[in-house]
Amino acid sequence: MVATRVLFWNTNGKGVMYVCALIASVIFIVGLSKKIWSWQQGRPIKYENLGLRFKTSFLDIIKHNDQIFKGTFRRFMHLSVFYGFIVLLIGTSMIALQVDFKIPLFFGIKYLIIKLLMDLAGLFILIGIVMAAYKRYIAKRDHMDYSLDDAILLILVFSILFTGFILEGLRIYVTGDIWARWTPIGLLVSAITRKSGVSVQAARSFHAVLWYSHMLLAFGLIAYIPYYKLLHMFASSLNIFLKSSSPIGSLTPVDIILKEEKNIGVGKLEDFSKKQLIELDACVSCLRCQKGCPAYMIGAPLSPRGLIQSLKKHSNSKNSFFRSRRKSFNHLIIDQIISKETLWSCTTCGLCEVKCPIGIEHIKRIVDMRRSLITEEAGYPPEVQEVFKNISEVGNPWGLTNSEYLVKESQVPLLSDKKQTDILYWVGCFSSYESRSKKISQVMFKLFERAGVNYAVLGSEEKCCGDSVRHLGNEKLFQQLALENIKTLNQYEFKTLVTHCPHCYNVFKNEYTQFGGHYRVMHHSEYILELIKLGKIEPKPDNNLKVTFHDPCYLGRYNNLYKAPREVLASIPEMELVEMRNNQSRGFCCGAGGGRIWMEDIKEEKINTLLVNKALKSNSDILASACPLCIATLTEAVSSSKADIKSLDIAEIIYDAL
Ligand code: SF4
Ligand code: SF4
Repeated sequence: MVATRVLFWNTNGKGVMYVCALIASVIFIVGLSKKIWSWQQGRPIKYENLGLRFKTSFLDIIKHNDQIFKGTFRRFMHLSVFYGFIVLLIGTSMIALQVDFKIPLFFGIKYLIIKLLMDLAGLFILIGIVMAAYKRYIAKRDHMDYSLDDAILLILVFSILFTGFILEGLRIYVTGDIWARWTPIGLLVSAITRKSGVSVQAARSFHAVLWYSHMLLAFGLIAYIPYYKLLHMFASSLNIFLKSSSPIGSLTPVDIILKEEKNIGVGKLEDFSKKQLIELDACVSCLRCQKGCPAYMIGAPLSPRGLIQSLKKHSNSKNSFFRSRRKSFNHLIIDQIISKETLWSCTTCGLCEVKCPIGIEHIKRIVDMRRSLITEEAGYPPEVQEVFKNISEVGNPWGLTNSEYLVKESQVPLLSDKKQTDILYWVGCFSSYESRSKKISQVMFKLFERAGVNYAVLGSEEKCCGDSVRHLGNEKLFQQLALENIKTLNQYEFKTLVTHCPHCYNVFKNEYTQFGGHYRVMHHSEYILELIKLGKIEPKPDNNLKVTFHDPCYLGRYNNLYKAPREVLASIPEMELVEMRNNQSRGFCCGAGGGRIWMEDIKEEKINTLLVNKALKSNSDILASACPLCIATLTEAVSSSKADIKSLDIAEIIYDAL
C-alpha cells in the first residue's frame, strides 16, 4: 500500500479557505507595499559587490552565526523557529501543489519523510516559542519592556502549532491511520484522546470545527506579518544584505559644496537613507545593543534600541500609503522625537553595532542627526561651540597658539626642515597639548631615537585631524581640516604615517581616503611591534607585573586591531597579561569618543569609573591602553577613585622595560 493520506479530510471548507487566503494575501500585499513605499522615501543608497553581499548575507542568515546569536539558549530558540517555519512552508507548498496543480508529491517515502519533518518542525517551533516566552516574561533578565505585539505574536504562533497538532491527533484517532508512527506528536495526541474516552463521533465533529479555527489563525498570521514585528523576516534580511561594507569608523561623506547648509544631516525622516528607514522595521527590539551601552549604563538619556524604536513609532504614525510624501514625512525629529541630550550622550563606541544581530548602524544615524544641528544657533552645547571656534581659528581644540612648544621642548626633527623622511609621526592634538598625554609623545620620540628611526613631525603645520569635529556633526569644519591636512602632507615625502592616537589613525585610514588622502598608516602598537620584531628595541624582564589591556574603541571595534598591542605587551618577559571579562570587540568604552571628551559630564556616575572598576576585577598592577584619550580619562578615574592600579600607554610600558 502506498503511504499517503486524504487531503482536506473531514472538511468541505476548501472554498472558504481560498477566500480567506485571498483576503490574507491582499492585506499582506497592501501592508508590505506600504512599508516598501515608506522605505523608498529615504535618500538613495549605493551598494556594490551584489554577488558577495548575497553570499555573505545568505550564509549569515542560514548559519545564525554564533557571533550574532550569542548564547546557546538564544541561538537554539531562533534556529528552532526559523528552520521550523521553513520546513512547514515547504510541506504546505507541496500540499498546495498536489491539490491545486495535481502534482503527486504527497505519496510514498516522500510523504512519510515530509510528514515526519513537519511534525518535528512543529515541535521545535513550539519549544522555541515557549523558550521565547520564558525569556521575555519569566526570566526577564534583559527583557523588561516587551510590547503587546510580542505577546500577540507568541500566542498566535503557539495557537497555530497547538491546534495543528490537535487536528493531526484527532485525524489519526478517527481514521486509525496506519502511517501514524511517522507523525509521533500527532500519534501522542491521538493516544491521549483515546485514553480520555472521547468518542470517535465527537472527535470527528470537533476536528471539523477546529479546522476552521486553525485555518483562520494561520491566514491571520500571514496577514499580520507586514504590520508588526514579523516584518523583520524581510526587513532584517534586507538590512543584513545592505549592511555597509566599509569599517564602522567610516562615516558617510556629505558633498558640502552641493549642499545648502540648511540641508546637511538628518532633521526629518525623509533625510535618512533608504537603508536607515529599513533599519527601523528590521529592529527586533532584542535589547542587545542597550545592554552594555556605556551611555545607557550611567543613566544618560540614550538607549540605542530606544532611539530606533522611537523613530519607528514616529515613522509608523506619520507614514501612510494614501498620504502624500510631503505630509507624511515632513516632520522634524530632533527635540520632537529624539532629544538633543540623547544625541550628545553617545560616545560612538560602536558596541551597539557589534552586538546588533541584524547589522543596524547606530553611529552613522546619530552623527547624521547631529549634523543637522549645525544650522541651529543653540544646536551645540556651548563647550562644543568653543572647541569648533578654537579649531577653526588656530587648528587645535584648546585654542593654544604656541603650537610648536612641544617640538621645541623635545628638539625633534621637523619635516619642513628635512622635506623627506621614513616615518612621519603624527602627534595629534591631545599629545601635543594635554599634560598627561604629552608624556606619551615624549616617550614615542625617545623610542624613535633609541631604535635609530629616520622620523620627523609636522610641528606647527599639524592641525587637528578633525575626528571629534566630524563625530560631533560639524562636517563642514571637518572637511576643511581634512583638505588642509592633506595639502600639507602632500607637500612632503614620507613612507609611513605613524600615530599613537586611534582617533587620528581611524581618520587617516578610513576618512581622509574619501577626500583623496591615501597614506600608509600604522598605529604605534603595530610600529612598536615591528621595531621589536626587527630587534631594534629589546624589552627586558619587568618584575612579574600583571597588566590588563583596555581596547580603545577606535582601534579595536573600528579597525579590528586587537593583536598588535597585546603582542607588544607579551614581548616583555615576565609580564603577565590578564584579560578583562568583556574584552576585544565587546570591550567597554572609556567615555571619551564621539566628541564626548569635550563635553560636560551628563551624570554623576562616569563611564571611565565603570571601566576602571571592571579593570580592578582583573587584579592587575597596570591598566594599559593604546590611546591618549583613554589614558587621560582612565588616569583621571584612577586618581579620583584612588584605585590601586596604574594607567599607562603601551609605549610607556615598553620604554620602561628597555
Ligand atoms: S555607540 Fe556606544 S554610546 Fe553610542 S549608542 Fe552605541 S553603545 Fe551607546
Ligand atoms: S538595534 Fe539591533 S541590537 Fe538593538 S534592539 Fe534593535 S535589533 Fe536588537
